[in-house]
Amino acid sequence: MNVQAKLIPAGATEIRGMGRASAWPEDVPFNPRILSAWGDSLLRLGGEKGVERIIDLAKVPLPANRALGGPFDHGLTLGQFPHWLDTARTHLVLSLNEFSGHDALGAAINGLNHVLRFFAWCVEQRVYKLSALRPQDLEEFAIALRPYGWFSALSVPERLDQVVERAGKDAHVLNSIVSVRNRVCCVSADALSREVGFLITSREFPLEFREAMAALTGYPFRQSRKAAKRGGGWSESSFKNCFVALNRLAQMPETLDRLTFEPFPNTRKHARQSGGRPDGRTRNLLVEEAAKLLGLALKWIYERSDGVIELVHVWRDALEEARYRWCAASSIQAYATQRLREAYPAIQAKNGLPGQLTGAVRAGEGDEDTTVVELIQDLQTAAMIIVGINQGRRKNEVLGEGSRPWGLYLGCLLPSDPFIDAHELDIYIEKTWRKWMRMSTNKLTVDAIRVLERLRLAMFPQEKDSSSLSVDELRKRKLFVFPTYRVLLGEDVVPHQYAFECHNGRFFKEAGVGEEARRSHSFRRFFALIYVYRWEHPLLQALSEYLCHMDMESTRVYITDPSMREEAERIEKVYRLRADCFPIEELTEAQRQYADDLLHAMLTSTSAGGPMTRRVRQWVKRLARRVEFADSDLDEALAAVRSNVDRRGYLPTSFRHGACWATGARMARRARCGSNGQLHREQADIGICSACPFHSTSEAFLRNVEQEAMELEAQAKTTVDAIEREAILTASRRLHELIDLERELMARYRPLAYASPGSTTS
Ligand code: SF4
Repeated sequence: MNVQAKLIPAGATEIRGMGRASAWPEDVPFNPRILSAWGDSLLRLGGEKGVERIIDLAKVPLPANRALGGPFDHGLTLGQFPHWLDTARTHLVLSLNEFSGHDALGAAINGLNHVLRFFAWCVEQRVYKLSALRPQDLEEFAIALRPYGWFSALSVPERLDQVVERAGKDAHVLNSIVSVRNRVCCVSADALSREVGFLITSREFPLEFREAMAALTGYPFRQSRKAAKRGGGWSESSFKNCFVALNRLAQMPETLDRLTFEPFPNTRKHARQSGGRPDGRTRNLLVEEAAKLLGLALKWIYERSDGVIELVHVWRDALEEARYRWCAASSIQAYATQRLREAYPAIQAKNGLPGQLTGAVRAGEGDEDTTVVELIQDLQTAAMIIVGINQGRRKNEVLGEGSRPWGLYLGCLLPSDPFIDAHELDIYIEKTWRKWMRMSTNKLTVDAIRVLERLRLAMFPQEKDSSSLSVDELRKRKLFVFPTYRVLLGEDVVPHQYAFECHNGRFFKEAGVGEEARRSHSFRRFFALIYVYRWEHPLLQALSEYLCHMDMESTRVYITDPSMREEAERIEKVYRLRADCFPIEELTEAQRQYADDLLHAMLTSTSAGGPMTRRVRQWVKRLARRVEFADSDLDEALAAVRSNVDRRGYLPTSFRHGACWATGARMARRARCGSNGQLHREQADIGICSACPFHSTSEAFLRNVEQEAMELEAQAKTTVDAIEREAILTASRRLHELIDLERELMARYRPLAYASPGSTTS
């Protein structure tokens, strides 16, 4: 592992790049954000809004390793490792080419920081070429990262203790790291990085270190809001980001120094294995929360939107009227406020708008006070939720927050067929395709976007005619914006942008959904939850009924509406094909939550049934003979069942008639729908599945089957052909028989008792 590379002493002027000219080498990828030439000593980057960022890679510090048996003393820099300068530069390009998010440069530099620290770790291991590393070295590295990430791998606390000790003995060291300004002590991140031999940022200085340095100077240290809080260790996502960055070292051109293998092929799995703090973002929305938010969103779109748009018209008319009467802006605004307050009670009564209107923009102080802008933001939150859920899209693909040149725009709905009322959505896919795509939409999405378009036209009536505009110009007419006085007065100013995190508070409060659910990723999760739970969860049925109050036909869509069934089947096909843009991760998470819910019901509920339920109860009974569950703890029993289920590779997929726990071809031999070594789920129905070992059901599923039987009876009544009628009635009778049989079995196979501590799992 001890490989010596050609080294150049710090400060030497040899041209780097293994003899290449300063032009960018042909085999190395390029990104237009790189402003410097290949051989330039400074890496210059074009940042957001034209701001340039400069990184002096050659001066990045690396640690001494003589004490560990290596040849290097204090003061080593990356400039002495020219092959790593090339690797670092190329890593940044690869990251920039990969990221398309808003802060792509920030994310790329974060990745580069991981790589620079990895170089430091390599030097400590006396490895000076990445190509010399073997898979087991990276395994050791992954272990070294636990639990505090670079703090653990580079022994940061110990090094900082040594720095404090040296600074206490040597005023020169102290003065090189610490300065006192205005009687406050500041630690220089650059100087400290040089002292410890790797990059360390001021955010990472532990409190104890700051206090120790301050004590040496006799002055208090400068308080930082972002001071490092250590204790919980790295989160899973921190491990994952680090592994993703290091994987890129295997994607380098062969002419550069690189890893010869991909160290962390499944970064998520490796991150979990690292024992990082579970990522807070992974919390799934509860179905009850989804119900509340969707219900309120539909209320805003279908009942309240007309009122909000009318208020914008009133506001605009009042401003124009006032402009001809007064010159002073304050008088114009006061007049508009007066007119809005007068008009509000009638508009509120007609459209069910909430609160007491205090004016157009300025928020009132009372809990009930509201403004036109706040009402617009609530309506936009509603549209965001509906479009986000129905299209399964990310927040920024819908909103286009900040300077992102995408998001829904006026005219983004395009007819998909000249003869029927069907539309496609022109939407930018941010993370996978990174381009504008067309997605089919359902009525809810269309209705929500139509509301936003009317709102935009109320702000900008001159945009009604868009026939002469190019697609690029059209896409600038964003829908998630709200007006100011000047916008409504027709001045050439940019409207304010809706921002989900800032503007959704009132909506969530009205829905009765807590802070913890106000996540921007909610909508893809919603989509996944609704997709996974759509047939079974009783609360989803309640949701369907709840939606009934809001909107006539698009109500029970998620469960019973035939067009939604078609949509669900379409989604199912897309899911099976694993098409791009599909939120696979969210679906898997929702599926795991769904599996837990089903297993819980299997162990505790009288309405859980089907062969899989009976098997699960048998497992637990058998386990209970060998394993003693403390006080018949349900969690322990569930954990045992879950591990059995995981080991066998079962995961539930919800069908109209029940859940199928089979997951792959290897289960085809035992599955009732299996043939030729494959599952044929397309043939599945209650008749086939009810006798399949992978099937579980519940009262809610049985009600769906009952509904199907009733639909068949209704169909039989309208059928004139006697033979056909008899066939339909026979199918209906058969369904009823199966339901009766399943209910009888449910009654016979009682759930396991977990009611009182001390009872056993029998
Ligand atoms: S028969 Fe039904 S439950 Fe069994 S594997 Fe096929 S779809 Fe799944």
